[in-house]
Amino acid sequence: MRFEISKVLDAIEGRVCTDPQLARAVVDLAEIIRYQDLDGGRPASTLRLGMVIDALARSLEEDNVPVYAVVHRGVLSDADLTSNERMVVRRWADDGLVEVLDNPGDRMLEVADLLGLPVLSRVRFDGLRGRFPWLVEQPGRVVAPVPGAGGPVFIAHVGGGHTPVAGPPSPAAAQLLAREWRCSESGCNLFGGGGGGGAFADLARVDRAPTGQPPPSLRNGVPTCPRHGSRLRDAGPRSRSEVLAVRVGGLIRRRFTLTEEQSVLVGRAPEGSGGIMLGQWLNDEARRWISRSHLRLELRGSDVMVTDVSTNGSGIRPAGSLAEADRIPLAPQQSRVLAGGDMVELYPGVQIGRPTDLPSGAPYNPDSVMSEAPTMAMRLPR
Ligand SMILES: [Zn+2]
Repeated sequence: MRFEISKVLDAIEGRVCTDPQLARAVVDLAEIIRYQDLDGGRPASTLRLGMVIDALARSLEEDNVPVYAVVHRGVLSDADLTSNERMVVRRWADDGLVEVLDNPGDRMLEVADLLGLPVLSRVRFDGLRGRFPWLVEQPGRVVAPVPGAGGPVFIAHVGGGHTPVAGPPSPAAAQLLAREWRCSESGCNLFGGGGGGGAFADLARVDRAPTGQPPPSLRNGVPTCPRHGSRLRDAGPRSRSEVLAVRVGGLIRRRFTLTEEQSVLVGRAPEGSGGIMLGQWLNDEARRWISRSHLRLELRGSDVMVTDVSTNGSGIRPAGSLAEADRIPLAPQQSRVLAGGDMVELYPGVQIGRPTDLPSGAPYNPDSVMSEAPTMAMRLPR
């Protein structure tokens, strides 16, 4: 049992991040872990974060949607969590996967405001509707996770509806996110020179992309470290990046960031770190066809360059067309710029492209973060 819970926590770890380009909703971990009515279990449980993340994936009809978790420092020593859970949350904090704050205040709403993300919370925020007008003006920007048949579902606080909805990012965000920021506090996990510096740093398994730095807090218009309260130093322009997505069987399975600094290998099981592994989503035929490393993706200026490095070749589907006649072959060792609207296909039904360019509408058949613990799921009250 304990081993299975560890595996679920590992799965959840892949779905928490403070990357402004990849996070899809904002949560307050201290709140979520106490939704006792979701499973009728212990007073606090980090598995409820997994349940809420699953609900978000179901709602967005996309796999592997990460959430931006703001975490009150007290969670790291919450006696209602198991020692294993506390250790895992500390590791997330050290890796900068979550934002740990002594006093979160309205930081969760600030992040949602800057990035245009929906908030998953049961709190009504009545006193903050003046400062964040979208709380009332945009239905679905705040939705409450509540128990439902087959896992949590969402209810909007305002305007009815059941789907978390993203809004436009705030105008301030574009300027903030165009720069790299440094905190004067040494070993700052959010605005350090890269990587965590905490006691669990040796356990760090997640490489933060240089573009993945969280949005600074704005205090009186000054970019500030939300953790240390100190004014951030401008360390120059943030490098250019592009978000791409893997679509397998009609469903977006995960998004990833391509930066100018580093090319990304995509394939059945690419060698080295930072590659995008597809093997877990492929049937036997696709697994035989697709090479371990099949494509190399590079960002050159604003162009996404695709190079086939496979044995069997790939194809380009211009403007997302699924018609066979439109498919342009990409032979082994051949390169091509992925134009707006294009997707590259490694095998029929296995595609890479910009998320907005990928056709949707396939039946949703996700991989649950909870699927590693069937015994847990079976204990959920009906
Ligand atoms: Zn700091």
